[in-house]
Amino acid sequence: FFIALEGGDGAGKSTQAEALAEWIRAKGHEVVLTREPGATPVGKRLRSILLDVSSAGLSHRAEALLYAADRAEHVDTVVRPALQRGAVVISDRYIDSSVAYQGAGRDLSPTEIARINRWATHGLVPHLTVLLDVSPEAARERFTEAPDRLESEPAEFHARVRSGFLTLAAADPGRYLVVDAGQESEAVTTVIRHRLDQLLP
Ligand code: C5P
Repeated sequence: FFIALEGGDGAGKSTQAEALAEWIRAKGHEVVLTREPGATPVGKRLRSILLDVSSAGLSHRAEALLYAADRAEHVDTVVRPALQRGAVVISDRYIDSSVAYQGAGRDLSPTEIARINRWATHGLVPHLTVLLDVSPEAARERFTEAPDRLESEPAEFHARVRSGFLTLAAADPGRYLVVDAGQESEAVTTVIRHRLDQLLP
């Protein structure tokens, strides 16, 4: 069973990912908690290229392909093997992040971004995608560390990313759970658990 957590920077994805992993483990499942970009050795190198401020000005198409390369390696070496042995995989970000950031955010075609990522992943789609939706202003207040290259993008960029995610969710309501991530984190976890209770034994 494959769960993707999506949302803008500061939406609380990693907090939710950990809370859910603990809860699903307690149900007796093996859980693989993973993230993009940077879950594999090559992915870590791609992550540092992608997020380093010295990559300012990186071509938007090159950026999209590096995220797709990270994802291809992640799916081949981490996600698929885990799913094949019956584990529950929780990924902090997946394809929809690319459609929202490199597509809606950077003004590349979301359809083309989706297409290169389908190729990169052999068409692997999550069973459930949880979108943690929060306004960029509220999210910004949660930043604790120095902002990376993307977090330093202007508010309009983050607004486009947010609407990119919401558009994806609206187009595929069966696969998505959209949660108001402006709430307390316990309340967010409760909403997600409720949905998962119906999906996971
Ligand atoms: O979620 P995490 O903080 O690890 O993501 C790292 C950075 O990469 C974030 O600033 C996020 O905005 C950016 N990102 C991106 N495109 C993706 C995935 C992440 O721009 N496809």
